[in-house]
Amino acid sequence: MSTFQDLGLNDDLLQAINDMGFETPSDVQAKAIPILLEKETDLVALAQTGTGKTAAFGFPMLQKINIDSRTTQGLILSPTRELCLQITNEMKQYGKYCKGLNVVAIYGGASITDQAREVKRGAQIIVATPGRMKDMISRRMVDISKIQYSVLDEADEMLNMGFKEDITDILSHTPEDKNTWLFSATMPKEVSNIAKKFMKSPIEITVGNKNESTNQVSHEYYLVNARDRYQGLKRLADANPDIFSVIFCRTKRDTQKVAENLIEDGYSAGALHGDLSQNQRDLVMKSFRNKQIQMLVATDVAARGIDVDDITHVINYQLPDEPEVYTHRSGRTGRAGKTGISMVIVSKSEVRKIKSIERIINQKFELKQIPDGMEICEVQLMSLANKVHSTEINPEINKYLDSINELFDETTKDELIKKFFSVEFTRFFNYYQKTKNLNVAESSRDHDRGESGRDYKGNSNDSRYFINVGRKDGYDWMKLKDFLKEVLDLGRDDVFKVDVKESFSFFNTEKELQEKVLAFFTDYKHDGRFVNVEISEDKGRGTSRNKRRNDGGGFSRRSNNKPKAERRSSSRSDGNRSDRRSSSKSQGNRSSNSETRSRRSNSDSSSPRPRRSRR
Ligand code: ADP
Ligand code: MG
Repeated sequence: MSTFQDLGLNDDLLQAINDMGFETPSDVQAKAIPILLEKETDLVALAQTGTGKTAAFGFPMLQKINIDSRTTQGLILSPTRELCLQITNEMKQYGKYCKGLNVVAIYGGASITDQAREVKRGAQIIVATPGRMKDMISRRMVDISKIQYSVLDEADEMLNMGFKEDITDILSHTPEDKNTWLFSATMPKEVSNIAKKFMKSPIEITVGNKNESTNQVSHEYYLVNARDRYQGLKRLADANPDIFSVIFCRTKRDTQKVAENLIEDGYSAGALHGDLSQNQRDLVMKSFRNKQIQMLVATDVAARGIDVDDITHVINYQLPDEPEVYTHRSGRTGRAGKTGISMVIVSKSEVRKIKSIERIINQKFELKQIPDGMEICEVQLMSLANKVHSTEINPEINKYLDSINELFDETTKDELIKKFFSVEFTRFFNYYQKTKNLNVAESSRDHDRGESGRDYKGNSNDSRYFINVGRKDGYDWMKLKDFLKEVLDLGRDDVFKVDVKESFSFFNTEKELQEKVLAFFTDYKHDGRFVNVEISEDKGRGTSRNKRRNDGGGFSRRSNNKPKAERRSSSRSDGNRSDRRSSSKSQGNRSSNSETRSRRSNSDSSSPRPRRSRR
């Protein structure tokens, strides 16, 4: 079976297919379409993203519904607004010769009354996100009691996003004898449960391997110190000049921050997260689709609907809290038959998470090295050379040639080439020539993770600190954690085991962050008050009893009359401490403002890239 005609589609659809330039049906289309056209049956179809699932359910639905009737007969549920609009557009295209067809999209973030009005005009097919759909049902703005075909598209993602209840609720308003067609990239337990619950002996079709993330994607990880994460990211971008990527962070705040840093450092980047208005998100997505943005920094939730086919790299700037989420991230690349790379930047304590993910995706990660400065210079230079070589000459340049030729009258071709490329090369060379190796040796990986390495559940191999603020200063553990995350510019999991006492507290970070933490609190004042952080000798790791500094015993660091500097150097064991202090002093009265500090510590503001204006 090799053509759309063979599948049994009618002329209206074939004509539209022809217009769209589809030549042959994809695997999932070839398998699903004949079944759905011939039988009144439930169906479970498993196929990777980008395999043409929309048409696999869209064509049969369009052919089977009665377009002369204004009753709503088809309902397609999809996880995000983005996908909802995309499916609606595709359906309209497929059905462009089906006279009288009305496909309506229903999704949050837009006027509900407008949507209700469109439905009222008579929509044979509704494409909806579960949240808004449920809302409209409860407000009696839609009638889905005559639905004959319901589609659960990207079922795994819908369940991942917590739409199970909504879906259950919605389907309870549809007739018993309708057909349900479920499409999903993976078949986790929740999906098979849903299938069991809502479907009657569904026919199952599978394209490719079940539960395997796209094998078009190779998985790589890069081992760096936590503090070098951002530098690592920049190098990965610099080493891939044509990168077109989604960069995942764990929190909205980190997402915004990384995007801002990248923009400031001259990269074409943008942020996508839930704190942006719908309008802002639409703009960012538009720029990304148009490739005006090369690096889209996103949270998992905001990135769910991203359906852009030619993403070259997915970069996990931070790993997700749930290892399963990784599949959805890496599935953003390697779409529509293309290959892609999913990169993970990890610190030593996170290496175990890689193992958990390998088990889930059933694929091995390759440990790769963050390229060194000279490699990047070479890559950039060769990329430019290739670009120049393949550039078409713009005839407009002829007008200026005389004066340019005059300028280079004495220059040989050889010299000219050297000069021309030095313009770009020198910029990268100057930036990178003195930069350090960011890679952490893998041998220390095993050594470090041992029994005590933190993985998705575990803990330890970290530094424990004493800080001279406590309950009497208005902190509980959450507030203190927030405060530390904020001023130190750390992620959600970076500060842990926070134990707040009356006048002081303890907390842990990974050992790698120790230097950053201590350096930050070298002379830090909060609300006019000196905040002191030291390495705790409390090896009990947060047992609530602490011999030396027992709670409420009136022991206060404040009352210590020793001069600040002396107190510090005597109470800390780290040998570099005094150097650090004097270097911070020698920088004069620099601001202790947390913004300034965190920017400096996190982002290397010098960059080989010319600054771009913000888009
Ligand atoms: P999925 O839902 O499986 O992720 P889509 O239905 O969104 O995939 O299709 C991915 C892209 O492939 C879309 O741009 C779609 O127009 C295109 N497409 C679908 N079927 C075909 C086909 N048979 N031939 C060529 N392109 C197709
Ligand atoms: Mg789809």
